[in-house]
Amino acid sequence: MILLPVESYEIRTTEKKGSGIFALREIAPGTIIGDYLGRIIDDAEGERLGKELGACYDMDYDGHLSIFPLDIKAPGVHLINHSCSPNVNTYYYYGHTLFFALRRVLPDEEITLDYGLDPDQEVGFVYPCYCHSPLCRGTMYINPERLKQYGRFSFSETAGQVFEHLPVGAILEPLLEYPVEIKDNVVFDLFAKLDAEPVTYNDEKLPDILEIRLRLRETGCPLAFTRLGLIIWGIVDSHLILK
Ligand SMILES: [Zn+2]
Repeated sequence: MILLPVESYEIRTTEKKGSGIFALREIAPGTIIGDYLGRIIDDAEGERLGKELGACYDMDYDGHLSIFPLDIKAPGVHLINHSCSPNVNTYYYYGHTLFFALRRVLPDEEITLDYGLDPDQEVGFVYPCYCHSPLCRGTMYINPERLKQYGRFSFSETAGQVFEHLPVGAILEPLLEYPVEIKDNVVFDLFAKLDAEPVTYNDEKLPDILEIRLRLRETGCPLAFTRLGLIIWGIVDSHLILK
């Protein structure tokens, strides 16, 4: 389910990645983009459906079971394509996987997520990446240490959330209420829209990392520190990524 107002996005057919979701208007950092809804399936069904469709649509539900969209052709966050420098991330909330904007998303920009696949999971597929980001890893797999770090963050964020764990075959329905926004956290990697015009700053020394996060989130653009001769593209694992 997409939770953005209908006038602020559009589904387009991309050249190589099938359908994709594009912003038509600016989207503010922290905005909830959508909720991954569908039917609860087990690994065997996920594998069968993946082979049948030649693409993987299952989203982890509880570490054992997955969510599979009721209709893969209908609008939904499952249409969001992968990028190694994405503008969206996921956030677990009462058994739901919410997608939210990591930073300001610019009009006409594709909404993307790092699928962050676990290289330790034997899925029987190869996932090369052709996202064309200058920071492309060449694969949709991610460093397992980063996955563990995110898992620990999610575990602490969701501690105390009581919800019904659905069995195989059940339908995950929308929540009655969604958070207004997802707050920033240092665990989230952040990337500017790398091909956007940089926003320039005259700082004489580099601001601290939280201030840099704030500027990346609010502008959505690379940050050019002209006096320092630096252009910042993003922050990964609390390290600055320079152009
Ligand atoms: Zn890539």
